[in-house]
Amino acid sequence: MTNLSKSNVLIVDDVASQRNILQHILSPLDITIIQASSGKEALGKVLNYDFAVILMDIEMPGMKGYEVVSLIHNNQKFKHIPIVMVTSKDNDSEALYKSYDAGAVDFVTKPVNDTILTKKVAQFIALDEHRRIAEDSTARLNILLNNVSEGILGIDLDGKITFANPKALELLAIDSEKFSTKLQDFLVLHNQDTTSPPDGKDSNGELIELLSTNSHNATSIGRVSLKGHGDWQSLTGNIFHSDYSCEITRKLNGEIDGAVLTFKDTTHEKETEAKLLHLANFDYLTNISNRAFFYEALQKSIIYAKKTNTSLAVMCLDIDHFKFINDQYGHDIGDLLLQIISKKLSDTLNEDDLISRMGGDEFAIILQEVPTKIYVENIAQKILNSVSEPLELNSIKIEVSTSIGIAFFEPDSMNMDDLLKAADTAMYEAKSEGRNNFQFFAIEMQDKAEKHQRVQMLLSKAILNNELTVLYQPKISLLKKKMVGCEALIRWSSEEGDMISPDIFIPIAEQSGQIIELGNWILNNVCQQISHWQTLPYFKGMVTAINVSVRQLGTSEFRQNLVKAMNTHGIKPENIEIEVTETATFDDHKVFFSELDKIHALGVKISIDDFGTGHSSLDYLRKMPVDIIKIDRSFIKDIGKDEEDEELIRTILAISRTMSIQVIAEGVETVEQLLFLQKNQVDNIQGYYFSKPIQAQAISDALNSNESSFKEQFGRFESHKAMTVKFKRHTLVM
Ligand code: C2E
Ligand code: CA
Ligand code: CA
Repeated sequence: MTNLSKSNVLIVDDVASQRNILQHILSPLDITIIQASSGKEALGKVLNYDFAVILMDIEMPGMKGYEVVSLIHNNQKFKHIPIVMVTSKDNDSEALYKSYDAGAVDFVTKPVNDTILTKKVAQFIALDEHRRIAEDSTARLNILLNNVSEGILGIDLDGKITFANPKALELLAIDSEKFSTKLQDFLVLHNQDTTSPPDGKDSNGELIELLSTNSHNATSIGRVSLKGHGDWQSLTGNIFHSDYSCEITRKLNGEIDGAVLTFKDTTHEKETEAKLLHLANFDYLTNISNRAFFYEALQKSIIYAKKTNTSLAVMCLDIDHFKFINDQYGHDIGDLLLQIISKKLSDTLNEDDLISRMGGDEFAIILQEVPTKIYVENIAQKILNSVSEPLELNSIKIEVSTSIGIAFFEPDSMNMDDLLKAADTAMYEAKSEGRNNFQFFAIEMQDKAEKHQRVQMLLSKAILNNELTVLYQPKISLLKKKMVGCEALIRWSSEEGDMISPDIFIPIAEQSGQIIELGNWILNNVCQQISHWQTLPYFKGMVTAINVSVRQLGTSEFRQNLVKAMNTHGIKPENIEIEVTETATFDDHKVFFSELDKIHALGVKISIDDFGTGHSSLDYLRKMPVDIIKIDRSFIKDIGKDEEDEELIRTILAISRTMSIQVIAEGVETVEQLLFLQKNQVDNIQGYYFSKPIQAQAISDALNSNESSFKEQFGRFESHKAMTVKFKRHTLVM
């Protein structure tokens, strides 16, 4: 409630005693009394004070009372002040009439009746207070209207603007004098726009609807107010986003006569909100959706697939050897590559498919309402093709590929996590299948992945728990009829007593990186063994081979450890050979080749293991410092059975002879194989025919003795040879 000051009452009389009598009578009232002794003085007071009522003597020298009344009343500013004439009984009524004509509202006669005067004045005071309260709230309302940050508009039933506060004028760029505009002129309608509210209706449209014919029966349709937002356009063409509320107004008789609208320019807020939303859901680098968005979308897709009984597929993919590209060319190129791949993926997919960057170089795709498996295959193939197109990034030529795992949602057995895990498992399968391919998830992959994980976990404890040992498989020279070397082969008997084959755990260790630690352990273990063997009498010329994964040759670490181990154990490089297998794909060819060169330069022999099986074996021969080729067991196995394989062995031998590379055959189990190999001048033999991998002690025994440990095997071979010759002669004679 407003704190009103006391009302002012003006007493005008030329006789001081008369003024004082009136003042005395009115003294019980809580008012401020001001006196004026003439009409002129009274006018001065009126100019300076706001009066609730004026008590005006009718008969005064100079200006007459009614003349003063007229002057006051003719001024618009003071017209509202009620004036009560004070007359004496003998005054003529003529003067009183003139006063009424001039605007006086009442009169009292002298001698004044105390009660009547007090009551009268009290009434005028009450009226004054009401007036002042009303004036005050109007003033406040005006302050409010003029200063609020919202635009406020009054409109009639046709939408014509009848009132606008300064903010509304500013936002709509209306000249305050020209209210001839209608609200409808400012509303932008986009019905087909995707940004319209979810019900598809433009909320400006709703506003127009409310304002049109419907507003007359707004109450009957139950709408008296409306909140909404939409694009509005100012007279100067500025489009802004408006958040508005609209409230119906009524006449005193209850009839609707228009509406009041409060609106705000929320363009900036909306943009900020949109930016925040974008930031939360999109990846800053590639501008495709992020992991959080993907999860939300996948959840919805799963619900949709269940409801509509449609097929849903998820693809997981990452860029093959991305880490290498990042390390080799720097993060700028890496980032650029991610952006290009994102773009390629988006271009390959339909608009309805969702593609997200899950982090690093990992992407995931949701394919909804998949018609057939072939449809998904086609998309996967398109992605492979598109990604593998050669690129030029900052004038660096780069070739990349991707491995894709695909899983279909199985509503009865899968939740979202299972689906993602399945696609991920399939992606790992694609990686181990040599990359640049796609794989559909199969349940066996799951078992494989779980086993993989278990092995990886157990392996991390194996070295500490002393679960690893090394066996050695002799390499035999047919010419010298004795052991000329051996191959170190790792054995793992796990805590639970299971023998786990290196064929299982080596590839896992290669993938997990555990091969580095494992490799160092083997290296030290073998070198320690050699340092013992070299003290034995028949050690001379004995070469021990260590299997080294390409993964171990990606840095200089292995070479440095090798040098250290040879120094520590006093081993000559010519007694060591490394067998390089191509099982693991490797990221950095450059480092790999230069490491091999450096190891070779130390005097350590280099052998290509499993020769003939890898894709680039022949290519390696040109790039690598190769001393020995090891013909893979799979070819040896087919000797006498597969002429093509026999032919291949002959080709390998021919090539190696021209390049002066030594050859060894592995996996030799039978005399027939031995015979074939000897005939084709393969001198060095490794395989079960002579010996399985054996304990180091058994090798020690052989190195201690003058006698060939393989007498029996050679004997069998010789007699078999003799028999074959006899048989051949026999057939010739026949
Ligand atoms: P690899 O280097 O090709 O080793 C030869 C494998 O063939 C060995 O299996 C050996 O026991 C087996 N073998 C030898 N002669 C015959 C034969 O006449 N008949 C048959 N059927 N098999 C024969 P192993 O020891 O199970 O090793 C499997 C693979 O594991 C190795 O193949 C090698 O790639 C890897 N590996 C073994 N030890 C190590 C190691 O210390 N480091 C690394 N990086 N890899 C190793
Ligand atoms: Ca080997
Ligand atoms: Ca081999």
